[in-house]
Amino acid sequence: MLIVQKFGGTSVGDLERIQNVANRVSATKKAGNDVVVVVSAMSGETNKLVAYAEHFSQNPSRPEMDMLLSSGERVTAALLAIALKEMGHDSVAMSGRKAGIVTDSHHTKARIEEIDPTAMNEAIKEGKIIVVAGFQGVNENGDVTTLGRGGSDLSAVAVAGAINADLCEIYTDVTGIFTTDPRIESKAKKIDKISYEEMLEMASLGAKVLQNRSVEMAKKLNVNLVTRSSFCDEEGTLITKEENIMEKPLVSGIALDKNQARISLIGVSDRPGIASEIFNKLAKAEVNVDMIVQNRGHGGTTNIDFTVAKGDLNDAKDVVKEFIKEGDLQDDVYNEKICKVSVVGVGMKSHAGVAAKAFSTMAENNININMISTSEIKVSMVIEEKYAELAVRSLHDAYELDK
Ligand code: ADP
Ligand code: ASP
Ligand code: MG
Repeated sequence: MLIVQKFGGTSVGDLERIQNVANRVSATKKAGNDVVVVVSAMSGETNKLVAYAEHFSQNPSRPEMDMLLSSGERVTAALLAIALKEMGHDSVAMSGRKAGIVTDSHHTKARIEEIDPTAMNEAIKEGKIIVVAGFQGVNENGDVTTLGRGGSDLSAVAVAGAINADLCEIYTDVTGIFTTDPRIESKAKKIDKISYEEMLEMASLGAKVLQNRSVEMAKKLNVNLVTRSSFCDEEGTLITKEENIMEKPLVSGIALDKNQARISLIGVSDRPGIASEIFNKLAKAEVNVDMIVQNRGHGGTTNIDFTVAKGDLNDAKDVVKEFIKEGDLQDDVYNEKICKVSVVGVGMKSHAGVAAKAFSTMAENNININMISTSEIKVSMVIEEKYAELAVRSLHDAYELDK
């Protein structure tokens, strides 16, 4: 088999763990497989580099951030390849560039445009174990780019697609995808199989065990994706097509996103086109808007509330200021002390009452719901951040996910 194995930050967190990874990769190779490894930076490294940059600037230039951040993954890739060679394997470390990963030019959150697998295919043919530095590529000018936080998952899936791997294994510090973050609810249960759709919702709604774009890509390229632990041999979770899953639970999991901020626009001119103007400007500023609620206000004005990722808040504020200056809205209020809890499950498509149960669970715990949004397979609620864990545990309990 041709297998891509991705190891996250904790799995390569120190030199002993890198050796542990080398042992696992070596065993996979010796079992007769071809292996391409994708690695993250050692845990804490990327944050450390971000903090270094912020020592000099609150708004460091993005191309330079990519130069800086991409170095973390290169360190691990080189060290792992060195360790594998020492064990007698023919191994080669590759940067994103060498692996042929071409992205657009959105520095610090670039999208992969294409992968030229020539160099990787050649090395595989020569029997080499390739170790690719995750999280990075180059744009068409050859400048290094990074793929957004958690982006090594995306590197792994994209590489697996490009070389037509039989399997893509994501090794992390938990044994698979759980019904909710096991760090919040110790009664969370490991899921054996989950559909791409549900996993995509879970990841997009805050379950950072897989980066959401990696799931999107896996679905698109039909990559067989497994999440498992690098610290034991327990079988992990298979992420696959919905039709491959016999037993479809009503609710599969609860996700929590603490990385949200709410923006309230008060006294917005009530005229056709205003929402389009505001949200187009936000999109141009690359602000990712999530939930939107509009209420009718008084005297020809309306109120619009929406949420964005905390990291996009400053960019959003700049856009909003322009509208205030032009008299198109009276006031703005920001709240960073919110979070979003979501109930996810394909079973909702065919069952009523799932949302009602979520709302009554909040009511029983005296938690006020600020905003609600739903889709076919999820119900999301914005609540005060201090209730985040309580909400997750109560919902987990209400849908009997520990059973
Ligand atoms: P890595 O460094 O390997 O990429 P991450 O820290 O990005 O690992 O992701 C693993 C973490 O995701 C786990 O330690 C866990 O706390 C968290 N997590 C959140 N939601 C879930 C979930 N539903 N199932 C499993 N893990 C989850
Ligand atoms: N090192 C990067 C991060 O911490 C990418 C990754 O680990 O996936 O976000
Ligand atoms: Mg991760």
